[in-house]
Amino acid sequence: MPDRFRDVLVVDLLGGLGDLCMVLPAVHALHRGHPGAALRVLTHAPGADLLRSDPAVTEVRCAERHHERAAVVAELDRRRPDLVVSTTRYDGIAEEIAARGMRAVTDLWRRPPADEPVARRYVAILAAEGLVDPGYRPPAIHLTDAEHAAGDRAVAAVAPAGPPVVLVPGAGMAVKRWPHWPRLVAALAGRPVLVVPDGGTVPGWAAGRARPLPDADLRGLAAQFAAVGRRGGVVVGPDTGPVRVAAAVGARTVGLFGPTLAARYGLDAPAVDLQGLPGCTHRRPTAITEQVCWWEARCPLSATGPACMADIGPGAVHDALLATR
Ligand code: SF4
Repeated sequence: MPDRFRDVLVVDLLGGLGDLCMVLPAVHALHRGHPGAALRVLTHAPGADLLRSDPAVTEVRCAERHHERAAVVAELDRRRPDLVVSTTRYDGIAEEIAARGMRAVTDLWRRPPADEPVARRYVAILAAEGLVDPGYRPPAIHLTDAEHAAGDRAVAAVAPAGPPVVLVPGAGMAVKRWPHWPRLVAALAGRPVLVVPDGGTVPGWAAGRARPLPDADLRGLAAQFAAVGRRGGVVVGPDTGPVRVAAAVGARTVGLFGPTLAARYGLDAPAVDLQGLPGCTHRRPTAITEQVCWWEARCPLSATGPACMADIGPGAVHDALLATR
């Protein structure tokens, strides 16, 4: 592929860590397709930190929340790119980019098939536009040797023997909360079990049964996940950014998919994705934010919480955790 572009800007201001992870295959494909180009990424904190040592990324720029369009304008003004790829269209961002007249792809969500994973879809669209080769490589986050060593030490301090199971109960949104953590942790008795504190707090059900991962910033947490992966451990949690980060640093994962469809939002092999209530007719895989349950976790099928999350039994999760070891 001819290296036609010298200055590439990737905009991902969808807001989530998971969103950023899903655009990484496109970022890396752009780098492979245009190896001499300066490649900037404009995104939010704290996810931006995950790109800081990435050899493919020349520069990482941060947008303040609620000022995203202004951040895009500032970035386009600061140095004119000759190619812009944006996952983000809201608030006139797509129109702002188009108005500048350079080559741009801002419709990465066009006609999404319900069963095509988002990250693969991004790469497929860029390939169809002639901007990257079609080969897909899963999301990958780069960490330094020193960070890997610190991650190894941190995990060894709390799980000195055996491959650990790491629980990620934080869901970010109520509709992704899994109600069976206490039963799972009871079933894992005798195994090294670690937990990522939820909003800085270790859940009551974990007390005495799961040790918290040591306090760390996002890169430190990623390094701990990588260490868990090297020790043959596995990370389990709902469809959230931290679980995607774990997969992107090489840890095996078991994903708990309820309101999101695993066929569209699932992780790459060797991840195991468990889908609750796959037949729920309220699910809208290509328009999840329009789902009746999405914002306030009001599930028409259950008065006690998301029926799809409850449908993922702790026995199935336990079996998947053992199967991935
Ligand atoms: S309607 Fe209920 S069961 Fe269906 S996806 Fe939403 S929370 Fe899950």
